Amino acid sequence: MHKSLEDTHGRKASYMRVSVTDRCNMHCTYCAGEGCDFIPHSNILRYEEILDLIGMAVDFGVEKIRFTGGEPFVRKGFADFMISAAARFPKVDLCVTTNATLIGDYVERLAQAGIRRVNISLDTLDPDKFTRITGHDLYSTVRANIDRCLDAGMNVKVNAVAMKGVNDNELPGFIKFATTHSVDMRFIEFMPVGLDTGWKDDTVWRAEDILAQARELTELIPVKGSEKQHGPARMFTISGGKGRIGLISPYTNHFCATCNRLRITSDGSLRTCLFSDKVYRLRPALRHPKLGLPTVERIIRVASKRKPMGYELLAHMPAGQGVCHTRMASIGG
Ligand code: SAM
Repeated sequence: MHKSLEDTHGRKASYMRVSVTDRCNMHCTYCAGEGCDFIPHSNILRYEEILDLIGMAVDFGVEKIRFTGGEPFVRKGFADFMISAAARFPKVDLCVTTNATLIGDYVERLAQAGIRRVNISLDTLDPDKFTRITGHDLYSTVRANIDRCLDAGMNVKVNAVAMKGVNDNELPGFIKFATTHSVDMRFIEFMPVGLDTGWKDDTVWRAEDILAQARELTELIPVKGSEKQHGPARMFTISGGKGRIGLISPYTNHFCATCNRLRITSDGSLRTCLFSDKVYRLRPALRHPKLGLPTVERIIRVASKRKPMGYELLAHMPAGQGVCHTRMASIGG
């Protein structure tokens, strides 16, 4: 029998995102920011500590763990760690979010270890624009690694941050990509997370606009029960296509009422809402010789109860600022 983590709004946590590093090999304009300070190595959770937290989360009813970063594959030994986590928690749905620049050499081993689901971030299908957004000329590496994941039988979701003036002129290309590849091509509204990201209300390419524009280009068939199976994404099959299109609208149509997520930052803090900078530090208790996991468990329980409704924070966002100050590269998306 699980002890569940339920908040005052009746939401149960069943999905935990774990950032394994705050470092990234890309410097996306809207995500990483300039000149940021990285967390010293000694303050980053060790892999054994992460496994302990996952074990606790599983006892609390968490069924899905997503590793993220920074860029998870930047951290030494990450692929081996993920493989060992899959062996230790065979019933847990383990997945990873990556920019797919460094995953190439590990794809087959990860797939053999049962890691079948990977989310790949790709905001443009234009190689020059890719370099401008990320600061690195690695578009062809990412495309090759998407193919490699598909060839290994992985379920691939490609996530693009939907930004006006950046990629809103690329819908025909994205639809063609999802027609010819067995991927879920998902558009995530640009969120006001972090400072100096260039976010403004009119930089959000809204999900409803994407849907209307996409419907002018192709026939889209709604996937039934899509919310249950795909979390916040509204999914559509493309008539005659191999892949699907998905829309995620955290800004214009929030899904706070059904939020089942908790986030662990790479320095071992619990963040209960993407839009709130409130964190609960777990690392000191985790590393304390006398406190350890029982205290961590108590902190997680109290913190989860207090999980806010993110849309209320959005509604009170100060003009011209992000809803929270922490940059997405530190939170992990
Ligand atoms: N490095 C990995 C990657 O590229 O997927 C994992 C970390 S990255 C922070 C996770 C996701 O957050 C990426 O898909 C990124 O595009 C997305 N992201 C960053 N800032 C965002 C924002 N302001 N709004 C929406 N998504 C954002």
